[in-house]
Amino acid sequence: MSNNKYKVLVIEDEANICNLLDTILSANGYQAVTVGTCKEGIMMMLSNVPDLVILDLGLPDRDGLEFIRELRKSDITPILVLSARTSEADKVMALDLGANDYITKPFGNAELLARVRAALRNRRTSEVEMAHDGTFTLHDMVIDYARRMVTIAGEEVKLTRTEYNILEILSHNPGKVLTYATIIRKIWGPTDDGGVKKLQVNMANIRKKLGSKPGDNKYIINELGVGYRISEENEHRYARNNGNEAID
Ligand code: CA
Repeated sequence: MSNNKYKVLVIEDEANICNLLDTILSANGYQAVTVGTCKEGIMMMLSNVPDLVILDLGLPDRDGLEFIRELRKSDITPILVLSARTSEADKVMALDLGANDYITKPFGNAELLARVRAALRNRRTSEVEMAHDGTFTLHDMVIDYARRMVTIAGEEVKLTRTEYNILEILSHNPGKVLTYATIIRKIWGPTDDGGVKKLQVNMANIRKKLGSKPGDNKYIINELGVGYRISEENEHRYARNNGNEAID
């Protein structure tokens, strides 16, 4: 029967990682279902209707990227990619296909849980919060969408139109890494040249105006070589894991 736990579908062929995820998720109030192939994953999407998918890319029957491509034709369930592939190109590909976030094996429990919460927050936000309240709040920063105004601790932050638009787009996607190409397309359209450089300059200005020091993740997280993500409450507690002794 139904209950009020979030359902997490884990698609991963390594039994020890499945067991580990099952243990961590269950201990933290989630209901986990694990399968080992893309085919079973697609069947589970239909029969189980999960709230979140944790997806390995190196699966025995098909590549996990194919799963993302297939699912995103009709389904917006958040996808957290879990993979040993550390290259920026793979991350960008997964995100551009529609994954919400990317975590590299091996991962820490706290980091995993933070990403799970962030991805679920993205789902809730897109469905509920935005519709009822025209503001976005993160720590002491408030974005007022109707007035296109940003304040920190009540003080207005003077952003240019482009800077505001970039921040608004990120805030519409909490828990989701937006790649350079995605942001550039939304701000300047598909044919713009020199977009990444322009985006980085704008982002540096935004960060400065928000009072962020280099490496400060309080409002915006810089996913180096990939894109940007709006931070989550308390997220700065968790260090990013870029380990490389991984299994795929
Ligand atoms: Ca694998």
